[in-house]
Amino acid sequence: MAKITVIGSASMDLVVTSAKRPRAGETVLGDSFKTVPGGKGANQAVAAARLGAEVTMIGRVGDDSFGQVILNNLKANGIVADYVEPVTDMESGTAHIILAEGDNSIVFVKAANDLVTPDYVDRAAEVIQGSDIVLIQQEIPEETVVHVSDLCAKYGVPLILNPAPARPVPQSVIEKAAYITPNEHEALVLFGEEPLGEVLRRYPNKLIVTEGKKGVRYYDGSQEVVVPGYKVEAVDTTGAGDTFNGAFAVALAEGMSLSDSLDFANRAAALSVTKFGAQGGMPTRREVEGGSL
Ligand code: ATP
Repeated sequence: MAKITVIGSASMDLVVTSAKRPRAGETVLGDSFKTVPGGKGANQAVAAARLGAEVTMIGRVGDDSFGQVILNNLKANGIVADYVEPVTDMESGTAHIILAEGDNSIVFVKAANDLVTPDYVDRAAEVIQGSDIVLIQQEIPEETVVHVSDLCAKYGVPLILNPAPARPVPQSVIEKAAYITPNEHEALVLFGEEPLGEVLRRYPNKLIVTEGKKGVRYYDGSQEVVVPGYKVEAVDTTGAGDTFNGAFAVALAEGMSLSDSLDFANRAAALSVTKFGAQGGMPTRREVEGGSL
């Protein structure tokens, strides 16, 4: 079984639907409210576990009731959560999401996710060393991303950096990561206004830019390659990127070629957008290989 370690955020999404978005100082009546486990780290861990990998998550929750729900959800998905420790007197990370007027607005409070520090990650150094692949995102402190890139380089373990949410990435991390998977907006934040074709050429077989339903683009050392996405009836694209990254990690860890791994990830992500919710839409291995696309 492919051994994948995900280092990142685990949070609770608090989702309100409302016909109208409140303006400053205004109160409106909402239509529904629900709580759903989320966070890019946890989402990507669930995606990878559902596709058959042995997944260990390194993260932190609060000692509140959300923390328990987040932990139980990870375990229910077969994820090793020994390194997702509750922090005393601290809240779990929460995303406050308003779905209104055909769009979402989100306030993300990092809380316990900010305590995924370099020292904390060091406690799980052996797990990292024993991984086939490590997957990390940016809802945790930047110094931790830098530290993990150093650890992975030291141990010779390939690192996938999903640079989401968008924030600039230190050059040392870009050099040390085996793969970097921004969407188009994140690629702009990382590499500025330089034409994408030129940036891709600088990082052959490493920089993979996701382009929604169009699929992904990278440079293979001699030419630019597009691995096309799958045509589906999109119901909810939340978590497409997380499913893509979890699936990409699984395929690479199993030894698939880069282009086959990207096709596998496109397939999984396309299936995920056909269902509601981030984790709710993540497909199983059987669904990805079932030939329904
Ligand atoms: P999100 O923020 O919605 O989770 P993202 O912005 O991080 O996603 P995208 O580039 O939009 O990333 O999507 C990631 C991958 O998901 C794409 O490369 C593609 O494989 C798949 N995907 C996204 N949207 C669609 C769609 N409408 N139809 C088919 N595949 C899709």
